[in-house]
Amino acid sequence: MAIASNKLNADFDIDSIRGQFPALDQKVHGHSLVYLDSGASAQKPNVVIEAVDHYYRNDHSNVHRGVHTLSERATVKYDASRVSIQKFVNAASDREIIYTSGTTEALNLVAQSWGRANIKEGDDLLVSEMEHHSNIVPWQMLAAEKSATVRKIPMDQDGVLDMQAFKKLLEGKPRVVAITHVANALGTVNPLAEIVRLAHDAGAIVVADGAQSTPHMSVDVQALDVDFYAFSGHKIYGPTGIGVLYGKESLLDAMPPWQGGGDMIKSVTFDGTIYNDLPFKFEAGTPNIADAIGMGVAADYLLDIGLEAVAAHEHSVLSYALSRAAERSEMTVFGNAPDKAGILSFALEGVHPHDIGTMLDHQGVAVRTGHHCAQPVMQFFGVPATTRASLGIYNNRQDIDRLFDGIDEVMKMFRR
Ligand code: PLP
Repeated sequence: MAIASNKLNADFDIDSIRGQFPALDQKVHGHSLVYLDSGASAQKPNVVIEAVDHYYRNDHSNVHRGVHTLSERATVKYDASRVSIQKFVNAASDREIIYTSGTTEALNLVAQSWGRANIKEGDDLLVSEMEHHSNIVPWQMLAAEKSATVRKIPMDQDGVLDMQAFKKLLEGKPRVVAITHVANALGTVNPLAEIVRLAHDAGAIVVADGAQSTPHMSVDVQALDVDFYAFSGHKIYGPTGIGVLYGKESLLDAMPPWQGGGDMIKSVTFDGTIYNDLPFKFEAGTPNIADAIGMGVAADYLLDIGLEAVAAHEHSVLSYALSRAAERSEMTVFGNAPDKAGILSFALEGVHPHDIGTMLDHQGVAVRTGHHCAQPVMQFFGVPATTRASLGIYNNRQDIDRLFDGIDEVMKMFRR
């Protein structure tokens, strides 16, 4: 069964979008590339590549410390990128946007700065079962240091968070709820606004992992009322090595810095140091200027296309993929939440995921195999690994047809 039409959304010109991503236009093992690994890292549009290239060719100098023209140009662009990111998640102020190296560093920053200052012996920290390791391990490290306890918020067989169990756990008055907005190994979209409301009523703060939501849907941190929200530049079509911690200004203001050095101070003497204002208090050292600029351009790019149009397009492609998967008795899909974004995680009966990944690659189809840094999810489903096809804005139904053609080849080989 193949559906040829890509006219899924009148506002969303998929052919023009695909043409803006040069890496898509290549052959892999003699086949035109089908990139279904955007969940791990998305490809980059020309505007992002050109912005980084232009910066290094023309404007590069260190920011915030120079009066010369190049330093001023770099500073203006770097600071403007923060305003783009502020708009991207609708933060109340650009002081609430802290640059980090990615989601991982952002979550560690919260655990180490807010956590060390606020968590004490006997406290409970709630962490969902569907988290990426980067929203589990920092809390385990904090709990070990403070003699606190990490408690698991369970999920059900569809990969849906168990809200009854969550409400019960809240009765224990936890201090933190660490929760992903979209689960990377399953695609589950968690009801974050409701989770935040319930957590706040119980006196907990919410630290949300937005690594897999920000590429796919419009995020409004004020409407969500979330306390901290972390995401990565490379998953929103920006560069690697740059990411964001959004935090409510009142919380960030009260937190101690976590790294000391240049740029995070107002004055230093051997009698003591006065720390800089937000956001610089949390950004010690020369920042990743070029990639911050690239990430700002990527955020503007997504806002220009419109996150609602992106979500509608990807949802349509995902529904098509799920309908094709439903035709296959040999295929098990992990993650069947009614609200699901951009991810098809699956097993094929009798075939190891790594063999699937390798055979698909030989047909030009890039998917990811492994535990996806979510080993508790694998343990829940009793599998060592899955094969994951994850969508980006440039994927269309033909890409899904190529994936299933590839799966046909895999099954032919293994049934011989
Ligand atoms: N959280 C989720 C849900 C992810 O999918 C990922 C990356 O795959 C991360 C966190 C970590 O992101 P990064 O490696 O960019 O820090």
